[in-house]
Amino acid sequence: MGGLELSIRDMLRICEQLAAIDITLASLVGINNVLGISPLLNFAQAPLREKWLPLLASGRVLASFALTEPGAGSDPRLLSTTAVPTTEGGWRLNGTKMWSGSASWAGIINVFAKVIDESGTVQGITAFAIEEDTPGLRQGPEALTMGVRAMVQNSIFLEDVHVGPTALLGKVGEGMAVAQEAMMFGRLGLAAISAGGMKRCAQLMVRYASRRTVSTGRLLENPVTLTRLNALTTRVSAIKSLINPMATWLDQGEQIPVEAYIACKTSGPEFLWRAADDLVQLLGGRGYIETNIAPQILRDARLLRIFEGPTETLNMFLGSKFLRDSEPLNHFLKTRLKAPEVADRLLTIAQQIEKEYSGPKAPFTHSVTTRQLIHVRIGEVATTAILLAAIQKASQEQSSDDLQRANKHFESYFNQQISEALSLKPEIHQQDCEREIQNYTVSIEDIEQPLHGEDSTLDPFLKQKDHPKPILDPSKSKATSSSPRSDSKVNVVSTEYTKTSIQEWITQWLIKELKLNGQRINPEQPFSSYGIDSVTAVSLSGDLQQWTGLSLDPNLVYDFPTMSALTKYLLQELQVTSVDPNETSPVYQERSSSIDELDAMVSELEQLSDLEAEDILKKKLADRGGD
Ligand SMILES: Cc1cc2nc3c(=O)[nH]c(=O)nc-3n(C[C@H](O)[C@H](O)[C@H](O)COP(=O)(O)OP(=O)(O)OC[C@H]3O[C@@H](n4cnc5c(N)ncnc54)[C@H](O)[C@@H]3O)c2cc1C
Repeated sequence: MGGLELSIRDMLRICEQLAAIDITLASLVGINNVLGISPLLNFAQAPLREKWLPLLASGRVLASFALTEPGAGSDPRLLSTTAVPTTEGGWRLNGTKMWSGSASWAGIINVFAKVIDESGTVQGITAFAIEEDTPGLRQGPEALTMGVRAMVQNSIFLEDVHVGPTALLGKVGEGMAVAQEAMMFGRLGLAAISAGGMKRCAQLMVRYASRRTVSTGRLLENPVTLTRLNALTTRVSAIKSLINPMATWLDQGEQIPVEAYIACKTSGPEFLWRAADDLVQLLGGRGYIETNIAPQILRDARLLRIFEGPTETLNMFLGSKFLRDSEPLNHFLKTRLKAPEVADRLLTIAQQIEKEYSGPKAPFTHSVTTRQLIHVRIGEVATTAILLAAIQKASQEQSSDDLQRANKHFESYFNQQISEALSLKPEIHQQDCEREIQNYTVSIEDIEQPLHGEDSTLDPFLKQKDHPKPILDPSKSKATSSSPRSDSKVNVVSTEYTKTSIQEWITQWLIKELKLNGQRINPEQPFSSYGIDSVTAVSLSGDLQQWTGLSLDPNLVYDFPTMSALTKYLLQELQVTSVDPNETSPVYQERSSSIDELDAMVSELEQLSDLEAEDILKKKLADRGGD
């Protein structure tokens, strides 16, 4: 098939070198070779492999990876792109993908969609390789990104894209295995990219600090500079101590547990980010000057903490996996990294974290939230344990002063992290945070972003929503968030939630938003057949949420793909909070009266001049004892 047949170790060396020169260049190569090519290499059928692999190996075309959508990022289960089987044995895909790296430059794109059969049953996420000139595949606008600006990231619109059986990657319903395999390897690559970027930051820091004089003398001799440089070199050693043996084991065909890949992905980019920030700071004003490379490194580095699994998501996954089944990581630490003490310590600390956080001093009273925090904390500590074990192993195998020193410093970092994880913070309540921030509108107003992006609209997740009003009395805050609304886009305003009223509401919504002929709408027909895409799906869920006051999943429509199924679900959910105007429950009466009061207060405020309104608000806040 061509290509240089480099080993994994060689490939990681190249990633490191490219990132030291330019993180965007390294990311472009990484996305193409790992997320783009490897699913084709490992899961494509023969005709596709024979056609595309030689071209890709020669570097004459690029491949890209389209998983993310407006409603699905760190949680791909929320994907709403659909693939409906066709009578010819292929599939028809509809949906919208976003931020697909180098997609509009690519000859072939790995697209992930939920297969939905004729009965509307979801058969699971499935991967397809789609050629750039397939009818219905439309490249959307480029996103203007903070960094990695030398690589295009664009949306992709899939509008009745017909693909044949040979486009399938792997098996129907097993698309996440295709994505995960590529992403796992990508996570190792991102650690190598981070190591290269960190080394470049260190070089630039020493270059400047050795030439610059400040009030204490040469900047390089300043204790703050030295502490930062020492931390930076320790982190470089830790990352390299982990990725080097991992590459060797992979080249030998050995399996590595998923926990080690996650540690690479979270620690590398987090360390690179700190290095980039330290670089900008150490360079003083020069660090802020665009032409001095530091701002570009900072911007490019920022992406790595987000894509291919944001740090928080992966930490939570790692912690929960460790609590469910500690054996794979325990075994890896003990036998591969030869660090039985670190392994035993990690087990003990995980138990301690679980016990402390479940006790009376926990920052959250809700047990699910507490559990999630336990997972995140254990994930963080487990990552450091993996790095410590790797660096211990490297320092035992190689007689290097640098590694010995790094080992000592990393040990102290591990201890520091454990005490931080075990020091519990005071209680935190979501309502307090939300209310306090909502009340900022009193001092700074509710500011809307003045310019939208290339796609001509403000991001629905970020734009102003219904001009949120300050909550003047905290005791009424709950009522506003879950009460039925009357300002919905659809003209049917009813608080009587029956099968008929819900179906009428949805029908009117479809007519208005999708410009459909009402006669075409049938409660048993899948929403996808009306051309609903992921953006409109999120919008329908948002509008239903407003109308019903329920808290709804943005991709509801894909879990309940027909009007009948959706109505049934809504009726079920509404039983708890459903309101019949003839039989108003005490809860609803309370909510309804606080809404009325609030609306009256707001319309009163709207009649006043700004100064008068401000005066009244100040008085209300003073009565409440806040500011
Ligand atoms: C420049 C760029 C290039 C990209 N390239 C590609 C590409 O080529 N292909 C592709 O498919 N995608 C690509 N992406 C998308 C990227 O992978 C997603 O942005 C990423 O997965 C995060 O998803 P999201 O943006 O929807 O964040 P969200 O899912 O909305 O997450 C928001 C925040 O919530 C946090 N969070 C989520 N879950 C948890 C949890 N369990 N615990 C605690 N916190 C949590 C996250 O850490 C994050 O901070 C790219 C993105 C960018 C910006």
